[in-house]
Amino acid sequence: MSQADCIFCHLPQASIILENDLAVAFWDIHPVSQGHLLVIPRTHRSNFFDLSEEELLAINRLIQAGKTLIDQQYHPDGYNVGANVGLYGGQTVMHCHLHLIPRYRGDDPNPAGGIRKMLPNGQEFA
Ligand code: 5GP
Ligand code: ZN
Repeated sequence: MSQADCIFCHLPQASIILENDLAVAFWDIHPVSQGHLLVIPRTHRSNFFDLSEEELLAINRLIQAGKTLIDQQYHPDGYNVGANVGLYGGQTVMHCHLHLIPRYRGDDPNPAGGIRKMLPNGQEFA
């Protein structure tokens, strides 16, 4: 299924970095860190919870391959992996995508908490 008004249904072929039968990966156009990769199902699915088990497996394979690629290219010190779901979960492109975000020593003076920091009251940790 392809949706006429969906940017991720109409990615330029040249932007695809990794692919398999059910999923593709490409660099985020506004990376939050060097090597920020997005992994999506080829078929339009609104969000993470609409993925089939086969798509989850295909996406996971590209997340693993993406990590290998990013490790070789950028040598990060950590990662955040995740999906925003729904308007109030922060999702802005309504074609499911997994963020693979490399993290670097010093990119946050107090990295503890990681993605817990998406809400102000999630900032205190341990
Ligand atoms: P969300 O906020 O929905 O979780 O993430 C959407 C992501 O898609 C953002 O990180 C944004 O920078 C990225 N993005 C939006 N439009 C495009 C595009 O046309 N090409 C690419 N490569 N990334 C995009
Ligand atoms: Zn789409």
